[in-house]
Formats: sequence, C-alpha cells, structure tokens
Amino acid sequence: MRATLMYGAGDVRVEDVPDSVIKLPTDALVRVTASCICGSDLWPYGSMPPADAPARMGHEFVGVVEDTGAEVTTVTRGDLVVAPFAISDNACAFCRDGLHTSCAHPQANFWGSGSEDGGQAEAVRVPLADGTLVKLPVAPDSALMPSLLTLSDVLGTGHHAAVAGGVNERTSVTVIGDGAVGLLAVLSAKRLGAERIILMGRHQARTDFGREFGATDVVAARGEEGIARVRELTGGHGTRAVIEAVGHLTAYEQALGVVRRGGVISRVGVPQYEEAPVGFGSLFRHNLRLAGGPAPVRAYIEELMPDILDGTIEPGKVFDTTTDLDGVPAGYQAMADRKNLKVLIAP
Ligand SMILES: [Zn+2]
Repeated sequence: MRATLMYGAGDVRVEDVPDSVIKLPTDALVRVTASCICGSDLWPYGSMPPADAPARMGHEFVGVVEDTGAEVTTVTRGDLVVAPFAISDNACAFCRDGLHTSCAHPQANFWGSGSEDGGQAEAVRVPLADGTLVKLPVAPDSALMPSLLTLSDVLGTGHHAAVAGGVNERTSVTVIGDGAVGLLAVLSAKRLGAERIILMGRHQARTDFGREFGATDVVAARGEEGIARVRELTGGHGTRAVIEAVGHLTAYEQALGVVRRGGVISRVGVPQYEEAPVGFGSLFRHNLRLAGGPAPVRAYIEELMPDILDGTIEPGKVFDTTTDLDGVPAGYQAMADRKNLKVLIAP
C-alpha cells in the first residue's frame, strides 16, 4: 500500500510501504476514504532534521473498516468511521474525565508516533478500535464528508479552545490565527453563543471565511498595533476569552495584550516555545488564567456530529482543495506557502 512519509524539513514523499495488518485483538484495519494535511504538520515540514527512519504522516482520517481483531465489538467490517487524532481506550480515568489525549492505556498514542500508522495513506491499523473509532451514519460519498472529517481534529480543536476558554452567550472572544483551527474556533464560539468574536488574522480570504463563521470584527494588524485595535474595539478592556490558535510566542504575547482582566487565554496552537511570561506583570497581576492543550476531540464527536448531519454548521468549508495521494507533497508546499488553507486527500 502507499503512505506519506516525512524524511525531514521540506521533504515529504509518498511511497510503497508494507500493508497495514491487524496485530492485536483490539485493532481494526481501516481503508482510508478521506484524510487531510494539518496546520500542525507544517511544524515538522518547516524544521524536522533529516531522518533515516522517516515519520508516517497524517492524523485525521475517515475510512471503511476492512477487518477487526477478535476483541473489537463496537465497529464491524463495512462500517464508515472517523478517527480522532489521538488513539485512546475511551475507558480509563482520564478518558472518563473527557481527557482522551491523556489516556492512560499503554497503547494510547498519536498517529505516526513510533510504529503507529499515519492517516495520509491508503490504510491504517487502528489500535484500541473500540475506544478510538466512531461510526458515521452516512455513505463514504456523502456530501457531508469534508465536514465530518473535521471531527477528527480541527473542529474538535476549535471547540475545545472555546470550551477551555469558558465561552458562553455572555462572552466576548478574541481568536488569534486565521488557519483552519482559528476559523473553526470562531465557528465554535459562535455555536456556543459568544456575543462578540474578534478574529485577528492577515489573510483576507481567510478572515472572510471567519466572518461567514461568525466573526463580528476582523483585526488584520499584529503586535502592539493589533493589540491597540482590539482594545479600541472593546472599550479599552480586551475580551474575557482569548483563543490562541497559532503556537508562536508572539501570538501568546498578543493574547496577553488583548485579554480582559480576570480573563482566560486558551491555547490550542502547538507551542513552539517552552518559556513565556507568567509572572506578576503578565498573568498574575490581573488574575489571568492560562488554559488549553491537545484537544480531546474524541470527547466531543457525539456532541458535534448532529450539528453537521442536520446542516447547522458546515466546518468542511475550511477545505479549499482536494488531491489524491500523489498530490500530497505539493499539498504540503501549498499550505506552507499559504496558497491553500487546508488540503483534503482522497486516496
Ligand atoms: Zn483512556
């Protein structure tokens, strides 16, 4: 079968690899019908050192179950399923807390880590299939497929950002970042009833999407100028929730600049830094809180899916192009060059 491998920064290849097979009785084998390239795939694409043992790529996919191990009970051959970006048992103490990205099961993992398969491929061995996979009540050629695929990561991550930020109908929100997660954080904040949503982003085609998803204001300026503009829009105070969907230290600093006293900074952009201001002059003085982390998207699928099925939300609009596996390396480059927002892969 064919799969996407990353050998180093800027070096993504689609190659023949050994066929994925069931290894454990709790595994399922899934033939991928739709997957995609994530903004977080661009971090290693920009900086990964050259590797002899390349990394399998892709952590968002939908597919058809081809085979199951003897102990799998919740999915069966022929089921269409979505896989969250983290493998989990949906049963341990942390999963029961809705924190599936911290699952304590020894097989809990992220796709592409160690010997795990990746989703940008023809097929995937899915460990802990009962905990990880969720059945989709549609056919693989459903027009809803792009939106249902976002349940694997970007919609759940945007939703998590809003939930961790305490967003409700009385909240004003600033969303920093106009990538797919930032835009779906806008959609999620709107879905949770946020009264005002300020989107900070520079790419007008993307911020136009943001307005469609519910942003009430767009601020294109960054840094001190951007902070001043958000403060001007909010009577000088900033917003109670700030969703940081980028991951750079400058975005965190921007969040500090626009959060209201007593407010929450909710981070879902993978931090590209280990040190950042948290002391008296930054978080402490005005009771600011820092929240967020890898989104336990498995916990949110049952809540979010009905809104996709009945057309209330259409998160699949973040996909602005579709390619086959051969087009994946070019898809990475197009996303890195900001020519595409998010690439859907139909292997
Ligand atoms: Zn667990």
